Amino acid sequence: MPSFKSPIVSVCASVLAAIALAQPLAAQPSPAENEPGNPLLYALAWKQTSAEYRALYHQGFNIARLHVQQALAQRQPGDKPLAVITDVDDTVLHALSYWGYLVNSGRDFFEDPLWDQWIAENLVTAAPGAIEFLNYCAENGVSVFYVTSRDQGEPTLQIALSNLRTVGAPGVDEQHVTALRESSNKEIRQDEIMQSHQVVVMLGDNLNDFRRKFYIRDDVDGRIAAMEEDRDKFGMQYVLFPNPTDGHWLAAIFGESEPPASAANRQLLKQAASRSAWEGP
Ligand SMILES: [Mg+2]
Repeated sequence: MPSFKSPIVSVCASVLAAIALAQPLAAQPSPAENEPGNPLLYALAWKQTSAEYRALYHQGFNIARLHVQQALAQRQPGDKPLAVITDVDDTVLHALSYWGYLVNSGRDFFEDPLWDQWIAENLVTAAPGAIEFLNYCAENGVSVFYVTSRDQGEPTLQIALSNLRTVGAPGVDEQHVTALRESSNKEIRQDEIMQSHQVVVMLGDNLNDFRRKFYIRDDVDGRIAAMEEDRDKFGMQYVLFPNPTDGHWLAAIFGESEPPASAANRQLLKQAASRSAWEGP
C-alpha cells in the first residue's frame, strides 16, 4: 500500500528524529552507574547460549578433518605415521558449569582453587564436533596426542585422563596424554611428537597451543604482531577455537593469565575493553 505523509507529519517526524539523535545516551546508565556489572557476563552468555560459539567448533573440526583426509590421501610408503596434536580445555572439553558457578557466586575472575575442585568432579562436556573428529582420526590410524597445561598436583594426569574418558575421547592413555604441570610451554612435547610423526594439524584455543613464541606478556600489540607473522598457518597447520573468558590473551593485558579479582584489575579490563573508543556525540 502506498504511504502518504502530510508535510506537517513529515516535519514532526524529522523533529522527533532529531531529538532522538541528540539524546541517544539518555536511556543508558552512565559508566559510573554501570560499574558493579560482572565483566564476565557477555562472554559467558555467548559461551552458554550462542549457536555461533558451537558452530565455530564444528567449523574448526571440519577444517581439521579436511586436512587429515588430504594427508591420508597423499601418504607414501615409508612416511612417518600421521598425528594430530590437540589442546584439551576449551578445545576438546568445555567447562560451562564451572563458569556458571562463578557467575552465580558473584565472582568475575577465574579462580584457580575452585577450578581444581571443579575439574576433579568430571563435570566437563565435549566441545561440539570434537569426539566425531577424534574418532575419525582414530578410525583412520591417525594418532591423537592430547597436550594440556594443568596443575592439580599429583593427580593432574589422572584427572585429565578421567575427564577425556568421561566424554568418550578415543586413545586416552599415558602415552597420548601429556599434562604439563610446571610450565605452559608445550613446544618441547610437540617437537618430540614431530620427530616420530607427521603432525597434520594442531588444535587449540590459545596461540600458545601452537608455538611458544606467542606467549607474550604485557604487550597486546606484540602478541598481535606475532600472530600476524604466522597468518598463513591459521586454518592450515593451526586450527583455533574461540575463548573469550580465559587464555594467554589475558597475560598480554594483565601480565598473567589468571589475574586475581581486584579493583585495579577491573580497571585494567575496562581500559582494555575501551582501547578503541569513540569520543561520543
Ligand atoms: Mg585450552
